[in-house]
Amino acid sequence: MAANISSQENVVFFNGSLIPEKDAGIPIRDRGFIYGDAVFDATRTFDGRTFKLREHIHRLFNSLRYLRIDPGMTPEEMERWSLEVVNHNHPLLPSGQDMWVMQRISRGVESTEPGVPMRPTVLIESHAIPFARRASLYRDGISIVTPSVPRIPPRFLSPRAKTHNYLNLIMGDLEVQDSDPDAWAVLLDEEGNLTEGRGSNIFLVKDGGVATPQGQLVLEGITRGVVMELAKGLDLPVSETDLDLYDAYTADEAFLTSTSLCICPISKVNGATVGDGNPPGPVTRQLMAAFSDLAGMDYVEQYLSHLPT
Ligand code: PLP
Repeated sequence: MAANISSQENVVFFNGSLIPEKDAGIPIRDRGFIYGDAVFDATRTFDGRTFKLREHIHRLFNSLRYLRIDPGMTPEEMERWSLEVVNHNHPLLPSGQDMWVMQRISRGVESTEPGVPMRPTVLIESHAIPFARRASLYRDGISIVTPSVPRIPPRFLSPRAKTHNYLNLIMGDLEVQDSDPDAWAVLLDEEGNLTEGRGSNIFLVKDGGVATPQGQLVLEGITRGVVMELAKGLDLPVSETDLDLYDAYTADEAFLTSTSLCICPISKVNGATVGDGNPPGPVTRQLMAAFSDLAGMDYVEQYLSHLPT
Protein backbone atom coordinates (compact mmCIF):
# COMPACT_ATOMS: atom_id res chain seq x y z
CA MET A 1 0.00 0.00 0.00
CA ALA A 2 1.35 3.43 -0.95
CA ALA A 3 2.47 5.48 2.04
CA ASN A 4 0.18 8.46 1.26
CA ILE A 5 -3.01 6.39 1.51
CA SER A 6 -4.93 6.41 4.77
CA SER A 7 -6.50 3.15 5.92
CA GLN A 8 -9.70 5.15 6.55
CA GLU A 9 -10.44 6.12 2.94
CA ASN A 10 -11.52 4.11 -0.11
CA VAL A 11 -8.91 3.48 -2.75
CA VAL A 12 -9.09 2.77 -6.47
CA PHE A 13 -6.53 1.36 -8.83
CA PHE A 14 -6.01 4.04 -11.48
CA ASN A 15 -3.58 3.66 -14.39
CA GLY A 16 -0.93 1.68 -12.56
CA SER A 17 -1.26 2.41 -8.86
CA LEU A 18 -3.61 2.62 -5.89
CA ILE A 19 -4.77 6.13 -5.10
CA PRO A 20 -7.48 7.57 -2.84
CA GLU A 21 -10.85 7.34 -4.61
CA LYS A 22 -11.44 11.06 -4.08
CA ASP A 23 -8.33 11.86 -6.14
CA ALA A 24 -9.35 9.80 -9.21
CA GLY A 25 -10.83 11.64 -12.20
CA ILE A 26 -11.51 10.71 -15.81
CA PRO A 27 -10.12 13.23 -18.37
CA ILE A 28 -12.75 15.04 -20.42
CA ARG A 29 -11.55 13.49 -23.71
CA ASP A 30 -11.53 9.91 -22.47
CA ARG A 31 -13.17 7.73 -25.14
CA GLY A 32 -15.15 5.86 -22.51
CA PHE A 33 -16.77 9.15 -21.53
CA ILE A 34 -17.24 10.64 -24.98
CA TYR A 35 -18.28 7.50 -26.93
CA GLY A 36 -18.90 4.70 -24.43
CA ASP A 37 -15.77 3.16 -25.96
CA ALA A 38 -14.91 1.02 -22.96
CA VAL A 39 -15.59 -2.29 -21.25
CA PHE A 40 -16.22 -3.28 -17.67
CA ASP A 41 -16.97 -6.17 -15.38
CA ALA A 42 -18.32 -6.49 -11.87
CA THR A 43 -17.71 -9.12 -9.19
CA ARG A 44 -19.36 -9.17 -5.77
CA THR A 45 -18.06 -10.10 -2.36
CA PHE A 46 -19.67 -12.39 0.19
CA ASP A 47 -18.46 -11.42 3.65
CA GLY A 48 -15.55 -9.64 2.00
CA ARG A 49 -14.55 -12.65 -0.16
CA THR A 50 -14.78 -12.24 -3.94
CA PHE A 51 -16.89 -14.81 -5.77
CA LYS A 52 -15.84 -16.09 -9.23
CA LEU A 53 -13.38 -13.21 -9.69
CA ARG A 54 -11.30 -15.23 -12.15
CA GLU A 55 -14.37 -15.96 -14.32
CA HIS A 56 -15.35 -12.28 -14.34
CA ILE A 57 -11.83 -11.27 -15.36
CA HIS A 58 -11.84 -13.91 -18.10
CA ARG A 59 -15.07 -12.36 -19.44
CA LEU A 60 -13.54 -8.88 -19.10
CA PHE A 61 -10.60 -9.91 -21.27
CA ASN A 62 -12.99 -11.34 -23.88
CA SER A 63 -14.87 -8.02 -23.88
CA LEU A 64 -11.51 -6.25 -24.37
CA ARG A 65 -10.62 -8.55 -27.28
CA TYR A 66 -14.02 -7.89 -28.88
CA LEU A 67 -13.37 -4.13 -28.72
CA ARG A 68 -9.68 -4.55 -29.70
CA ILE A 69 -8.43 -2.79 -26.58
CA ASP A 70 -5.14 -3.91 -25.05
CA PRO A 71 -5.29 -3.07 -21.33
CA GLY A 72 -1.50 -3.36 -20.97
CA MET A 73 -2.00 -5.76 -18.07
CA THR A 74 -2.36 -9.52 -17.72
CA PRO A 75 -5.49 -11.14 -16.27
CA GLU A 76 -3.39 -12.16 -13.26
CA GLU A 77 -2.38 -8.53 -12.63
CA MET A 78 -6.01 -7.41 -13.01
CA GLU A 79 -7.02 -10.04 -10.46
CA ARG A 80 -4.28 -9.11 -8.03
CA TRP A 81 -5.09 -5.38 -8.13
CA SER A 82 -8.81 -6.13 -7.79
CA LEU A 83 -8.09 -8.09 -4.60
CA GLU A 84 -5.93 -5.21 -3.30
CA VAL A 85 -8.86 -2.82 -3.78
CA VAL A 86 -11.29 -5.23 -2.04
CA ASN A 87 -8.94 -5.97 0.83
CA HIS A 88 -8.44 -2.27 1.49
CA ASN A 89 -12.04 -1.10 1.00
CA HIS A 90 -14.18 -3.90 2.42
CA PRO A 91 -13.22 -3.25 6.06
CA LEU A 92 -14.48 0.34 5.58
CA LEU A 93 -18.06 -0.87 4.92
CA PRO A 94 -20.54 -1.07 7.79
CA SER A 95 -20.67 -4.59 9.21
CA GLY A 96 -22.89 -7.05 7.31
CA GLN A 97 -22.40 -5.21 4.00
CA ASP A 98 -20.77 -6.40 0.83
CA MET A 99 -19.70 -4.71 -2.37
CA TRP A 100 -19.04 -4.86 -6.05
CA VAL A 101 -15.49 -4.60 -7.35
CA MET A 102 -15.52 -3.27 -10.91
CA GLN A 103 -12.82 -3.07 -13.54
CA ARG A 104 -13.37 -0.39 -16.20
CA ILE A 105 -11.05 0.01 -19.18
CA SER A 106 -11.52 2.60 -21.90
CA ARG A 107 -9.59 2.94 -25.15
CA GLY A 108 -7.92 5.98 -23.61
CA VAL A 109 -7.78 9.73 -23.97
CA GLU A 110 -8.16 11.16 -27.47
CA SER A 111 -5.44 13.72 -28.08
CA THR A 112 -6.16 17.00 -29.86
CA GLU A 113 -2.65 16.68 -31.42
CA PRO A 114 -2.31 14.44 -34.49
CA GLY A 115 -0.41 11.17 -34.17
CA VAL A 116 -0.46 10.89 -30.38
CA PRO A 117 -1.22 7.26 -29.55
CA MET A 118 -3.96 6.41 -27.07
CA ARG A 119 -3.13 4.50 -23.92
CA PRO A 120 -6.02 2.73 -22.18
CA THR A 121 -7.48 4.16 -19.01
CA VAL A 122 -7.67 1.40 -16.39
CA LEU A 123 -9.79 1.85 -13.28
CA ILE A 124 -10.63 -0.67 -10.56
CA GLU A 125 -13.14 0.60 -8.01
CA SER A 126 -15.52 -0.81 -5.44
CA HIS A 127 -18.82 0.31 -3.97
CA ALA A 128 -21.53 -1.00 -1.67
CA ILE A 129 -24.41 -3.17 -2.96
CA PRO A 130 -27.75 -1.43 -2.19
CA PHE A 131 -29.16 -4.15 0.08
CA ALA A 132 -31.77 -1.95 1.77
CA ARG A 133 -33.20 -0.73 -1.56
CA ARG A 134 -33.57 -4.29 -2.86
CA ALA A 135 -34.50 -6.20 0.30
CA SER A 136 -38.26 -6.28 -0.43
CA LEU A 137 -37.60 -8.08 -3.74
CA TYR A 138 -36.68 -11.20 -1.74
CA ARG A 139 -39.93 -10.95 0.25
CA ASP A 140 -42.29 -10.07 -2.62
CA GLY A 141 -40.50 -11.05 -5.84
CA ILE A 142 -39.57 -8.78 -8.76
CA SER A 143 -42.22 -7.48 -11.13
CA ILE A 144 -40.81 -7.51 -14.65
CA VAL A 145 -42.19 -5.73 -17.70
CA THR A 146 -41.15 -6.09 -21.35
CA PRO A 147 -40.85 -2.59 -22.87
CA SER A 148 -41.62 -1.77 -26.51
CA VAL A 149 -37.94 -1.01 -27.21
CA PRO A 150 -36.29 -4.23 -28.51
CA ARG A 151 -32.81 -5.41 -27.54
CA ILE A 152 -30.21 -4.36 -30.13
CA PRO A 153 -29.69 -7.34 -32.48
CA PRO A 154 -26.46 -9.27 -31.72
CA ARG A 155 -25.13 -8.64 -35.22
CA PHE A 156 -25.17 -4.87 -34.56
CA LEU A 157 -23.33 -5.05 -31.22
CA SER A 158 -22.81 -8.31 -29.39
CA PRO A 159 -24.49 -8.42 -25.98
CA ARG A 160 -21.87 -11.00 -25.00
CA ALA A 161 -19.33 -8.21 -24.50
CA LYS A 162 -19.90 -6.10 -21.40
CA THR A 163 -19.32 -2.63 -22.78
CA HIS A 164 -20.12 0.90 -21.62
CA ASN A 165 -22.99 1.02 -24.15
CA TYR A 166 -26.02 0.42 -21.90
CA LEU A 167 -28.36 2.95 -23.54
CA ASN A 168 -30.54 0.30 -25.19
CA LEU A 169 -31.17 -1.34 -21.80
CA ILE A 170 -31.53 2.04 -20.09
CA MET A 171 -34.19 3.12 -22.63
CA GLY A 172 -36.08 -0.07 -21.75
CA ASP A 173 -35.83 0.70 -18.04
CA LEU A 174 -36.97 4.30 -18.49
CA GLU A 175 -40.06 3.23 -20.42
CA VAL A 176 -41.00 0.58 -17.85
CA GLN A 177 -40.36 2.77 -14.84
CA ASP A 178 -42.53 5.56 -16.26
CA SER A 179 -45.54 3.32 -15.73
CA ASP A 180 -44.29 1.31 -12.71
CA PRO A 181 -41.31 2.71 -10.80
CA ASP A 182 -40.76 -0.64 -9.03
CA ALA A 183 -40.77 -2.82 -12.14
CA TRP A 184 -37.61 -4.12 -13.83
CA ALA A 185 -37.36 -4.19 -17.62
CA VAL A 186 -36.52 -7.37 -19.54
CA LEU A 187 -36.18 -6.59 -23.23
CA LEU A 188 -37.54 -8.75 -26.05
CA ASP A 189 -35.58 -9.21 -29.27
CA GLU A 190 -37.06 -8.24 -32.64
CA GLU A 191 -38.73 -11.69 -32.92
CA GLY A 192 -40.39 -11.36 -29.51
CA ASN A 193 -38.03 -13.62 -27.59
CA LEU A 194 -36.96 -12.73 -24.06
CA THR A 195 -33.39 -11.46 -23.80
CA GLU A 196 -32.18 -9.76 -20.59
CA GLY A 197 -32.48 -6.75 -18.35
CA ARG A 198 -30.05 -3.98 -17.46
CA GLY A 199 -27.80 -6.17 -15.36
CA SER A 200 -29.63 -9.48 -15.17
CA ASN A 201 -30.44 -12.72 -16.99
CA ILE A 202 -33.87 -14.36 -16.88
CA PHE A 203 -34.82 -18.00 -16.22
CA LEU A 204 -38.21 -19.71 -16.50
CA VAL A 205 -39.16 -22.94 -14.71
CA LYS A 206 -41.75 -25.20 -16.36
CA ASP A 207 -42.67 -28.78 -15.50
CA GLY A 208 -39.55 -29.09 -13.33
CA GLY A 209 -37.13 -27.95 -16.08
CA VAL A 210 -35.12 -24.71 -16.10
CA ALA A 211 -34.74 -22.64 -19.28
CA THR A 212 -32.93 -19.41 -20.18
CA PRO A 213 -32.42 -17.47 -23.45
CA GLN A 214 -29.56 -18.59 -25.70
CA GLY A 215 -26.08 -17.26 -25.05
CA GLN A 216 -25.88 -15.35 -28.35
CA LEU A 217 -28.78 -13.09 -27.33
CA VAL A 218 -27.48 -11.97 -23.95
CA LEU A 219 -24.52 -11.23 -21.77
CA GLU A 220 -23.62 -14.73 -20.63
CA GLY A 221 -23.89 -13.95 -16.95
CA ILE A 222 -21.41 -15.57 -14.61
CA THR A 223 -24.36 -16.18 -12.26
CA ARG A 224 -26.36 -17.63 -15.19
CA GLY A 225 -23.53 -20.16 -15.71
CA VAL A 226 -23.36 -20.97 -11.99
CA VAL A 227 -27.13 -21.50 -11.85
CA MET A 228 -27.09 -23.81 -14.88
CA GLU A 229 -24.39 -25.90 -13.16
CA LEU A 230 -26.30 -25.93 -9.86
CA ALA A 231 -29.48 -27.01 -11.68
CA LYS A 232 -27.63 -29.86 -13.38
CA GLY A 233 -26.22 -30.90 -9.99
CA LEU A 234 -29.80 -31.05 -8.70
CA ASP A 235 -30.79 -33.26 -11.69
CA LEU A 236 -33.02 -30.56 -13.15
CA PRO A 237 -33.23 -30.47 -16.96
CA VAL A 238 -31.58 -27.25 -18.22
CA SER A 239 -32.04 -25.66 -21.66
CA GLU A 240 -30.77 -22.56 -23.46
CA THR A 241 -33.49 -21.78 -25.94
CA ASP A 242 -35.81 -19.17 -27.44
CA LEU A 243 -38.44 -18.17 -24.89
CA ASP A 244 -41.31 -15.84 -25.68
CA LEU A 245 -44.13 -14.25 -23.71
CA TYR A 246 -46.26 -17.40 -24.03
CA ASP A 247 -43.49 -19.25 -22.17
CA ALA A 248 -43.27 -16.51 -19.56
CA TYR A 249 -47.05 -16.30 -18.97
CA THR A 250 -47.37 -20.09 -18.62
CA ALA A 251 -44.21 -20.64 -16.53
CA ASP A 252 -44.56 -22.24 -13.10
CA GLU A 253 -41.76 -20.07 -11.71
CA ALA A 254 -39.35 -17.43 -12.98
CA PHE A 255 -36.30 -15.68 -11.59
CA LEU A 256 -33.56 -13.19 -12.45
CA THR A 257 -29.86 -13.84 -11.92
CA SER A 258 -27.01 -11.39 -11.55
CA THR A 259 -23.81 -10.98 -9.63
CA SER A 260 -25.42 -8.87 -6.93
CA LEU A 261 -28.96 -10.36 -6.96
CA CYS A 262 -27.62 -13.93 -7.16
CA ILE A 263 -31.05 -15.53 -7.74
CA CYS A 264 -34.13 -13.37 -7.14
CA PRO A 265 -37.67 -14.66 -7.75
CA ILE A 266 -40.03 -12.97 -10.22
CA SER A 267 -43.61 -12.35 -9.05
CA LYS A 268 -45.17 -10.89 -12.21
CA VAL A 269 -44.54 -10.60 -15.92
CA ASN A 270 -46.35 -7.67 -17.56
CA GLY A 271 -48.81 -7.69 -14.65
CA ALA A 272 -49.60 -11.42 -14.98
CA THR A 273 -48.92 -13.43 -11.83
CA VAL A 274 -46.21 -16.07 -12.21
CA GLY A 275 -47.19 -19.53 -10.90
CA ASP A 276 -49.19 -19.45 -7.66
CA GLY A 277 -48.20 -15.85 -6.98
CA ASN A 278 -46.20 -16.76 -3.90
CA PRO A 279 -42.55 -16.64 -4.98
CA PRO A 280 -40.12 -18.26 -4.69
CA GLY A 281 -41.57 -21.54 -5.97
CA PRO A 282 -40.01 -24.88 -4.99
CA VAL A 283 -37.42 -25.11 -7.78
CA THR A 284 -36.29 -21.49 -7.34
CA ARG A 285 -36.10 -22.02 -3.59
CA GLN A 286 -33.93 -25.12 -4.09
CA LEU A 287 -31.58 -23.21 -6.40
CA MET A 288 -31.39 -20.24 -4.03
CA ALA A 289 -30.38 -22.55 -1.18
CA ALA A 290 -27.78 -24.26 -3.37
CA PHE A 291 -26.42 -20.83 -4.38
CA SER A 292 -26.07 -19.76 -0.74
CA ASP A 293 -24.20 -22.98 0.02
CA LEU A 294 -21.80 -22.34 -2.83
CA ALA A 295 -21.28 -18.68 -1.88
CA GLY A 296 -20.63 -19.70 1.72
CA MET A 297 -23.29 -17.43 3.20
CA ASP A 298 -27.07 -17.03 3.24
CA TYR A 299 -27.34 -14.19 0.75
CA VAL A 300 -31.16 -14.08 0.99
CA GLU A 301 -30.93 -13.54 4.73
CA GLN A 302 -28.38 -10.79 4.09
CA TYR A 303 -30.91 -8.98 1.86
CA LEU A 304 -33.88 -9.62 4.18
CA SER A 305 -31.93 -8.34 7.20
CA HIS A 306 -32.08 -4.91 5.56
CA LEU A 307 -35.91 -4.77 5.56
CA PRO A 308 -37.22 -1.93 7.73
CA THR A 309 -38.39 -3.27 11.10
N1 PLP B 1 -27.01 -9.03 -18.58
C1 PLP B 1 -26.47 -7.80 -18.51
C2 PLP B 1 -26.74 -6.83 -19.61
C3 PLP B 1 -25.65 -7.44 -17.44
O1 PLP B 1 -25.09 -6.21 -17.37
C4 PLP B 1 -25.42 -8.37 -16.40
C5 PLP B 1 -24.58 -8.01 -15.24
O2 PLP B 1 -23.39 -8.14 -15.26
C6 PLP B 1 -26.01 -9.64 -16.49
C7 PLP B 1 -26.78 -9.94 -17.61
C8 PLP B 1 -25.76 -10.66 -15.43
O3 PLP B 1 -24.44 -11.11 -15.46
P1 PLP B 1 -23.65 -11.55 -14.15
O4 PLP B 1 -24.38 -12.73 -13.59
O5 PLP B 1 -22.29 -11.90 -14.64
O6 PLP B 1 -23.68 -10.40 -13.21
